[in-house]
Amino acid sequence: MSGAPSTPKNFIRQIIDKDLEAGKHTTIHTRFPPEPNGYLHIGHAKSIVLNFGIAQDYPGSCNLRFDDTNPAKEEEEFVEAIKDDVRWLGYEWDQLCFASDYFEQLYNYAVELIQNGKAFVCELTADEVREYRGTLTEPGKESPYRDRPIDESLDLFKRMRAGEFADGSKTLRAKIDMASPNINMRDPTIYRIRHGLVHHQTGDEWCIYPMYDYTHPISDAIEGVTHSLCTLEFEDHRPLYDWVLDNISIPCHPRQYEFSRLNLEYTVMSKRRLTQLVQEKRVSGWDDPRMPTIAGLRRRGYTPESIKRFCEAIGVTKAEGTVEMGVLENSIRTHLDAMAPRRMAVLDPLKLVITNYPEDRQETLQASNHPKDESLGSRDIKLTREVYIDRADFREEANKKYKRLVLGGEVRLRNAYVIRCDEAVKDDAGNIVELRCTYDPDTLGKNPEGRKVRGVIHWVSATLGQKAEVRLYDRLFTTAEPGKGGDFFDDINPESLQILADCVVEPALAGAAVDERFQFEREGYFCLDGKDSEPGKPVFNRIVSLRDSWGKIDQN
Ligand code: ATP
Ligand code: MG
Repeated sequence: MSGAPSTPKNFIRQIIDKDLEAGKHTTIHTRFPPEPNGYLHIGHAKSIVLNFGIAQDYPGSCNLRFDDTNPAKEEEEFVEAIKDDVRWLGYEWDQLCFASDYFEQLYNYAVELIQNGKAFVCELTADEVREYRGTLTEPGKESPYRDRPIDESLDLFKRMRAGEFADGSKTLRAKIDMASPNINMRDPTIYRIRHGLVHHQTGDEWCIYPMYDYTHPISDAIEGVTHSLCTLEFEDHRPLYDWVLDNISIPCHPRQYEFSRLNLEYTVMSKRRLTQLVQEKRVSGWDDPRMPTIAGLRRRGYTPESIKRFCEAIGVTKAEGTVEMGVLENSIRTHLDAMAPRRMAVLDPLKLVITNYPEDRQETLQASNHPKDESLGSRDIKLTREVYIDRADFREEANKKYKRLVLGGEVRLRNAYVIRCDEAVKDDAGNIVELRCTYDPDTLGKNPEGRKVRGVIHWVSATLGQKAEVRLYDRLFTTAEPGKGGDFFDDINPESLQILADCVVEPALAGAAVDERFQFEREGYFCLDGKDSEPGKPVFNRIVSLRDSWGKIDQN
């Protein structure tokens, strides 16, 4: 059954277990119901892992259903992107559905409600409806149209569909209880008129559109969903969900259960805000590697496994809270530490000439791909007289704590020899432009006797290395709760993207594929950017640093 034995089942799985035990169901049907008005984000992943995960672990199935009842905001591009993201996460839906597939049935159930005196055509304006609705402490007022004859409502509703009335002039409302303490039950609107919109599925066939609270329970019931899982803000809508199903002639009655939304620090998650970031070009697109979208995380180099593990780690409860970004970062770091082959890449190159190394010599050395996993094998690396090291790995002078190269000091070039720095060549402005060093041929795989080597630094052959661009990402926002003090744009981190245009990576990386991930030793985890890389001009994204850099630990 579900999960590893050590993982306690979340409360929803416990409910399902009980329902199965009680014989309420023999198979479990869930659905993931995105509105195609944007790309999926990591919050959606929580819902996907929950819904599809249940279908995988129990006898049952999960549908992907587009909740497409608002053509003003919805687009085909989003439908395709969402399908792509769900598949990338490793899930396949049982049926691909659209709420718009049910428009005719939804219409017929609305007619049924009218016929049974449970719905009426209302002619109050939007402002009047608001005024009549009442408040949390005061009951609402009944619409003057509430008790109009059933036949009149039926006729008007037909004519609404036929396009006879202007937007906003009429609505269809459920007749429930204007005095209900739950405002959602105060004669909610279930249909409205929207002319001139082209729906991505139904074109211009309809000019009336059903509301979410009416559409959702019926769509669930049509599909035979057993457990309709949604986020906590719908808890107050549950009575309406049940009311709709109790008042139409549909035999199936799914149960709605609510869990808390995922909120992540230092990012925004609502599609409205993500759309603003894209539209106002604060990011390069929905798949910008800084975005919390699945497409962004994917381009950044996150693996589906790490996202699933993250979702499992945060669990499913009713407790509201905000998860630290470090939890997400750790999920990918842990995965990559175990599986990413090691490579060498120099992000801020400084030339180092090994003066006692023959000019035409290319020595092939063996470098292990992973310190803890021999099955990942090894690769050839080539040493030449000129190599690049990182500028940060050299200081003219430093105390003993500095485990890198200093003038007159020795370090090991990773997987190669011990070298000593003899001279730092400077330009007229005093900038170091080259290091001149000598190597000790007797130090391959062994330490020199009686001499202290400060540390090990990485390098790339200057003659054989591959030039590359490297992009380092930081959090997109400078505050844990963007927008808390006002406009969330004011909290955008101006340094969330750092482009290093002149990096050099080891030749083996020239043939990197988009879905490969590497550890650049001492630098972090990286992957090829699938969009901006060109043949001979690779661009690498830093997926995550080697450790949580928010403490700014000096990496030796
Ligand atoms: P947004 O507010 O970002 O637009 P939404 O809830 O309107 O999100 P939908 O496309 O309607 O987005 O969501 C599809 C499903 O994903 C819903 O069942 C919703 O509850 C769930 N979902 C959306 N955001 C989150 C989140 N942050 N955490 C958990 N589940 C979420
Ligand atoms: Mg929504």
